[in-house]
Amino acid sequence: MSSLLVVEDDPALIASLKRTLAFEGYVVTTAADSEQAWAEVTVRRPDCLIVDVGLPGVSGLELTRRLRRSGDQTPVLMLTARQLTGDRVAGLDAGADDYLTKPFEVEELLARIRALLRRSGLTADPGAPAERVVGDLRLDTLSHEVHRGDREVVLTRTEFLLLEFLMAHPRQVLSRSQLLRHVWGSDFDSGSNTVEVFVSYLRRKTEAAGEPRLIHTVRGAGYIIKEPRP
Ligand code: CA
Repeated sequence: MSSLLVVEDDPALIASLKRTLAFEGYVVTTAADSEQAWAEVTVRRPDCLIVDVGLPGVSGLELTRRLRRSGDQTPVLMLTARQLTGDRVAGLDAGADDYLTKPFEVEELLARIRALLRRSGLTADPGAPAERVVGDLRLDTLSHEVHRGDREVVLTRTEFLLLEFLMAHPRQVLSRSQLLRHVWGSDFDSGSNTVEVFVSYLRRKTEAAGEPRLIHTVRGAGYIIKEPRP
């Protein structure tokens, strides 16, 4: 049974989320602010966090940032009341794996949680090659280490899953909805630019030393990973 920590300060929303999630069979704990959430994470080690951006005191963004800085990779689904793309990107930038804009459908929330839990429980596919290589980029599917040449590239879990999927299909255009479905478990389109944001993170990290670009945008079609031309 998976355990969830809901970090939200709205008592009515907390009550309804708790009821819904418990009904689905999750063990649910709640925290009304970031300090309480931090204590719960340390003690209970939940399998997934649902974090509201707007919290009294330390914001949900700062909580997530703190969590990631400490090396904690527990999946975080961020709830944002705002329609502004900038705020959603800020959530992903802070280290969240996915987000939902309030108000949301319960079914959508449940689908996102299932996807996050499934992904974090993913173990290496025994049939997959131990190493994927595109140009001088190497990804070890067992140790999850990534190198560009001799340089180690440190990725978050979501970045790793996205890169792994791209590298499993070299020289093949993958559409945004294929990537959403594989990495985020749902191709529900909320007008989000999650894929674009994560591709930009991957580029930033794989090109950090000025190396040539490997992940290309194919306008109107999606993304492709391929070796640079010699
Ligand atoms: Ca709030």
